[in-house]
Amino acid sequence: MNLILLGPPGAGKGTQSENIVKLYNIVQLSTGDMLRAEVSNSTSLGEKVKSYMVSGSLVPDDIIIKMIENRLCLGDCAGGFILDGFPRTISQAQALDIMLSKINKKLDFVIEIKVDDEQLIKRISGRFTCPICKKGYNKLYLNPSNPDECDNCGKVQFLFREDDKEETVRSRLVSYHKQTSVLIPYYHQMGILYTIDGMKDIEEVSERINLILKRLT
Ligand code: AMP
Repeated sequence: MNLILLGPPGAGKGTQSENIVKLYNIVQLSTGDMLRAEVSNSTSLGEKVKSYMVSGSLVPDDIIIKMIENRLCLGDCAGGFILDGFPRTISQAQALDIMLSKINKKLDFVIEIKVDDEQLIKRISGRFTCPICKKGYNKLYLNPSNPDECDNCGKVQFLFREDDKEETVRSRLVSYHKQTSVLIPYYHQMGILYTIDGMKDIEEVSERINLILKRLT
């Protein structure tokens, strides 16, 4: 099963990917996570992309396309993958079509998770993660049992993303509406787009996604 989770930052793509990964045993490819790893390891790619990420603008298409192309041909993608945060422009979507046809694969579903901008800003400014096990939390609705300790691994310091500040989130939303939302008609035309109300709680969104995915199994 190969799918895209499409939606603005904070829509819940990462959270829903975690559930799908567990249920279907497929890999999650988050371009945001991949880029953050490059930045924190101070690689030459990380140095190139840092300023775009900090300002909340999109990294140039050629860099992202190359990165995903290299990743998709690795063996662990053979059983299926979730693209989270890619594609984000029409050029990226077109490049993905070409990449997939070269390796004899196709997209089964594009699931759009829709959430109001003001709700997204509230959600994003409340989120934080454990830097060790990557468990995600949110001050609004998902706090660790002990405020200073990760429930999963016991780590005592949490990580707040630099680009989750309100001003930067607003730029990221502008990029989404300008450059990414055009993918909705693109995938609608291909007949593989499903839209979910992401304002509902996490469990309800998961259930709706599972109902869609079950069509293939
Ligand atoms: P995310 O974690 O998906 O919100 O991504 C964080 C940041 O990484 C974005 O604000 C962009 O600067 C960059 N980024 C991630 N994915 C892409 C992409 N597909 N195209 C361009 N930039 C990206």
